[in-house]
Order: sequence, then structure tokens, then C-alpha cells
Amino acid sequence: MGDLPSPIRIRAHHLLCLQGFQGFGYSEEFIAQMRRVHRLLRMKPDTDIQVLIGADILCEHCPHHYRGRCTIDDPEDQPIETDTPDQAVLKDRRTLSWLELENESVQLWGQVVYKVGRLVDSTAMNALCRECKWREEDYCANALDELNQKVTSGELLFPAISKSTEPAEEDDSEPSMKEGPERETGDKSETTSEEIPDSKAKNNSEPADSLPDRT
Ligand code: SF4
Repeated sequence: MGDLPSPIRIRAHHLLCLQGFQGFGYSEEFIAQMRRVHRLLRMKPDTDIQVLIGADILCEHCPHHYRGRCTIDDPEDQPIETDTPDQAVLKDRRTLSWLELENESVQLWGQVVYKVGRLVDSTAMNALCRECKWREEDYCANALDELNQKVTSGELLFPAISKSTEPAEEDDSEPSMKEGPERETGDKSETTSEEIPDSKAKNNSEPADSLPDRT
């Protein structure tokens, strides 16, 4: 686990997938990699991640990954000759815009989780994840609603994370987050437009004392 690179490159829509991970995936190798990353992030919310559009540290272990392209939606799962972005890229773009994050910006995982909880719930998934096969299961919807509820109720507050100098110990407990200022949550509305949805229409508020994104 300690040999994961820093920052960990995570494509934008995987920020949502990681919330609902239940140990399922596209292959044994993919699941193993998902577990490694998921466990590290749970244990260390102060982990640096780089949010991006395109293949990431999870795709590298996925059977549907071919030279940077996600082929899962291509005919017969074969890469096709096209400049058209694959559907995973479209999901990344939407998610990045919704979360008001810059492509390739480096963030602290715990603060991104808070932002996901503030801006995304199962209703937002109708816009962000509409092509995803995993939506038939309720893992992500339940996890995102639970996280959203924690943020809106004030149970989970914006984490004022400080860098830990101690090596992480493996356990299954919730990540520790120091209390910070409570943030407002946005309305929840379904978007069917083909345009990239933008959560700014729902919520423009940013806490005055949030840490700046590091780009
Ligand atoms: S299905 Fe596509 S987006 Fe998802 S992990 Fe595999 S290559 Fe990446």
C-alpha cells in the first residue's frame, strides 16, 4: 500500500465510484487495485490526489483499458478508431464541472470527499452517471445519499486536515477528520441536458476558511 504514487491520479468520475465501492469490479486485478486505493484513502484522508479527465491508477488495472481509452462502451469492447471521447471521459468532464474542480489539480482526499457530499447525491447521479451500468445496483446511490446526509446534517464537517507524520496503521474505522466550519448544501435537481451540468447553479457558496485548491 505504501508504494502507491503521490499524488494518486484519480479520474473525476471515480471520485464517485470510490464512495460506493463494495468489493466488486471488472476483474480480480482491478478489484485488488481498487481495494488498495480505497483502503489507503479511507485510512489517510490527508492523501494527495490529482483529479483528472482520462485514465487513472484504477484504469491501469482494468481489462477495458486500452492505451488510455476506456473500451467498455465500444462495440464488442474493442477499441475503435475515433477521436470521439469515450463515455468515461464524458463522465469525468461532467463530474469535474459539477464539483467545481480543475483538471489535474491536486487535492486532499478528505476535502474532496466533503465536497462530493455537499454537491452530489443520488439525484445528481441522474445527470453525472447516466451511462453507467453500475447504476442498476444501489451501491453508489446509497453511499452518496448517506454521505450527503452526513454533510447536510452537520455530522460531517469540512475537514481541517493536517499532514500526518505517522505511518498509517491498517484498520477499518472511519477516516478521522478534524472539525471545521459547516458548509451549506445545494439543492438536488435532475439534469437531462447534454451540456455539462454545473453545480454552481445549485450552490455558489464556498466556506470562507476552506483551504485553497492546489493547482
Ligand atoms: S471501465 Fe473504463 S473508466 Fe472504468 S476502470 Fe475500466 S477503463 Fe477505467
